[in-house]
Amino acid sequence: MIKPVCDEVSIKINNNYCGKCKICSSICPFEALSTDEKTGEIKLDIEKCQVCGICFSSCPVSAIEMAYYDVKSLITYVEKSMHETGSKARVALDNLHKGFY
Ligand code: SF4
Ligand code: SF4
Repeated sequence: MIKPVCDEVSIKINNNYCGKCKICSSICPFEALSTDEKTGEIKLDIEKCQVCGICFSSCPVSAIEMAYYDVKSLITYVEKSMHETGSKARVALDNLHKGFY
């Protein structure tokens, strides 16, 4: 199965700014955000996130940002993910450089 790895790296939650209001986790249509019971921090499930941007635009303190990665770090991420999953083939779409890896 080929999975889009760009989705997995395209939002980032800055817990230093987060006020833990839970607006983001309550409105995420894909249930990709939840609260860590131990720390109270918002957690992202990268497998569920579809990068719709709803949480990004709804956070009152701009604690969620779109995360962009350069090609080198993206490839490193892909290789790490392949190692973890045992996958032999993976495709990464790089919108910036219009490339497939
Ligand atoms: S909406 Fe923003 S401030 Fe509220 S819990 Fe989510 S990340 Fe934190
Ligand atoms: S970008 Fe969309 S799918 Fe991903 S965590 Fe935010 S609201 Fe959920």
